[in-house]
Amino acid sequence: MKRQAGTTKARRRVVIIGGGAAGLTAAIAAARAGARVQVLERMQRVGKKILATGNGRCNFSNTDLGVEHYHGADPRFVLPAIRAFGLDETLAFFRELGVVPHVEERGRIFPASGQASAILDVLRHELEHLGVETLCEMNVERIVRDPSGLRVLCGDGRAFPCDRAIVAAGGKSTPNLGSNGGGFRVAQALGHRIEPPFPALVPVKLDAPFLKQLQGVRFEGEAQVFLDGEPVRAERGEILFTEQGVSGVPVLQISRVVSEWAESGRELSLGLRPFPDSTPEALASTIAGRVATFPWKPVEASFIGWLNKRLIPVLLKEAGICDLQRPCGELSGKEIQRVAALLHLWRIPCAGVQSWMQSQVTAGGVSTREIDPETLESKRAPGVFFAGEVLDIDGDSGGYNLQWAWSSGHVAGRLAAVA
Ligand SMILES: Cc1cc2nc3c(=O)[nH]c(=O)nc-3n(C[C@H](O)[C@H](O)[C@H](O)COP(=O)(O)OP(=O)(O)OC[C@H]3O[C@@H](n4cnc5c(N)ncnc54)[C@H](O)[C@@H]3O)c2cc1C
Repeated sequence: MKRQAGTTKARRRVVIIGGGAAGLTAAIAAARAGARVQVLERMQRVGKKILATGNGRCNFSNTDLGVEHYHGADPRFVLPAIRAFGLDETLAFFRELGVVPHVEERGRIFPASGQASAILDVLRHELEHLGVETLCEMNVERIVRDPSGLRVLCGDGRAFPCDRAIVAAGGKSTPNLGSNGGGFRVAQALGHRIEPPFPALVPVKLDAPFLKQLQGVRFEGEAQVFLDGEPVRAERGEILFTEQGVSGVPVLQISRVVSEWAESGRELSLGLRPFPDSTPEALASTIAGRVATFPWKPVEASFIGWLNKRLIPVLLKEAGICDLQRPCGELSGKEIQRVAALLHLWRIPCAGVQSWMQSQVTAGGVSTREIDPETLESKRAPGVFFAGEVLDIDGDSGGYNLQWAWSSGHVAGRLAAVA
């Protein structure tokens, strides 16, 4: 039995552009509210990005849900949608579809099965159950108005008449998974302003000669971004050296600042702290203690067992110690202090961020000033709603971007069906 609302009135026709997290949630909400729903997706199948989330495990929400985890010209824009469909509603929604939530450290929530495909499967089953029509390989280019309502136009000439349209076409990140900026073009054609998009949650590139040597080295510590010498944001966790710079959750979290200012000509650097809770004095005394224990060991060998072996020669060279084979007992107090200072805060100039292909989320997008935050309906084009990453809202790593997709998708879908 399909769960469509039976009514004698003609059912409202809602067309949704984009079959990602926001579009699929909007489709379920609109169909549950009684609308006849079509989802138009440009890829061969819906929800490709959902499968890639959380390293294939889908970190679909977070127990610490608050506006401070969102960014954009007006982060408070998220509040009405998150109040209407927040953490409790999201967990209840997925529980009802069969997903058991599992909370991990830092409040991150995953399906207990540990599979992102579980989230997509339950959404697809529900869409089928509700009789939502999903049409793939439909690249929407424009929404136009005619006397009978709206018409959603695809690149191949097909047209979908409807009463309400929801733009849920995502941003520009990982275009191989579907979102290629098409939603921005649809919005622009309706007269919407687009805040310049830039990649966020993206690995940071460093301007340093030693990256090849360090590629693959990981350490637990703190990454801090400096703009014109001033600290802007710091995050802790596992940091990973890559061929071009650094990655890992703390780096992704602070990457938005680097990405936003990369082209500004202002000085950007990254501070790495392998021992964020130790003072330079405490670190110098640890080094001095090791040197006193085995003064005969070569300088390089004297750090083995405490620091990653591949990090040692690079750090020593950065501290101006070039002869790594001399006995460590010969290290001067000044040399020890220089190494300690680097272990306390190792500042490396930034060379921007990696490409859209490596970014998890798009900052910028459809200006929230032209959207009603309570309904997510366009103020410029009545009857057209927006949901998810296509809007100028991006969240921290930790489940906040999918939560925004569920919250905004639900509100836009329900109100498109009834308001
Ligand atoms: C590798 C990776 C891992 C991530 N992990 C997490 C995580 O664990 N937790 C978290 O919260 N967030 C995560 N994110 C971010 C999160 O996945 C996105 O913010 C979220 O999926 C956005 O949902 P959306 O529906 O707004 O957009 P999308 O998921 O991008 O969906 C948009 C859909 O619209 C379609 N489309 C685009 N243009 C058109 C058009 N013109 N016509 C028709 N269809 C169109 C696209 O093909 C796509 O299917 C991750 C992102 C990536 C890339």
